[in-house]
Amino acid sequence: VVARTDGDVLAAAARNRLLNELPETNRAEILAHATVVKLEQGRELYREGGIVSMVYFPVDAVISMMLGEGNTDIEIATVGNEGLAGASATAGVPRALGKTLVQVPGHALTLNAVEAERLARELPNFALLMQRFMFAFLRLVAQGTLCCQLHSVEERCARWLLLCRDRAGSEEFRLTQDFLATMVGARRGAVNLALAVFRKAGAIEYSYRMLKMLSSDQLESFSCPCYRVIRETF
Ligand SMILES: [Zn+2]
Repeated sequence: VVARTDGDVLAAAARNRLLNELPETNRAEILAHATVVKLEQGRELYREGGIVSMVYFPVDAVISMMLGEGNTDIEIATVGNEGLAGASATAGVPRALGKTLVQVPGHALTLNAVEAERLARELPNFALLMQRFMFAFLRLVAQGTLCCQLHSVEERCARWLLLCRDRAGSEEFRLTQDFLATMVGARRGAVNLALAVFRKAGAIEYSYRMLKMLSSDQLESFSCPCYRVIRETF
């Protein structure tokens, strides 16, 4: 826990786009129960099928949900400042969709899951916002299925990097090729080739596991339309 003061909570909440959709009085009521936490890269927030005891509204952290079989994990969805992790808890289903990990370190606002469910029962605007978020989330997962079947590794890598930039709210973030390969469901070699193409075109810079976006327009020219579809959905 890095902060308990109202000022820190308010500043953090201003950067979560979902919380910003709420009327001021509802937002204040929710924030009165929230805490700012720092999330380190790789931290496991929920186990696959595990209990959701806290929900997380990312401020600048990015969180991934994954399903695995044997030694292979596949990313099913990512969430950043456009949403929250553990949304189902607000509907009284505090179960994790999949293994949920911090992918880009940063901060999040956190609420006890029982408290979040109570707030959703008492504040119709909050309940409606959660329902809308869950619909957008469903659309995101559906688009991911289409993307995996129809689009190339290069297109998927570009889409993923653009969405990661939007969610983290930063042009620069920490990333390993192994991690990106898991996220887009491809072999490391193919991801390596895609990054080389983006770098050669001047769209990104990549060294010492730090990725810096130099031209998002250029990167978007390599992406499939899924980037725009997902962005507009949220
Ligand atoms: Zn796609």
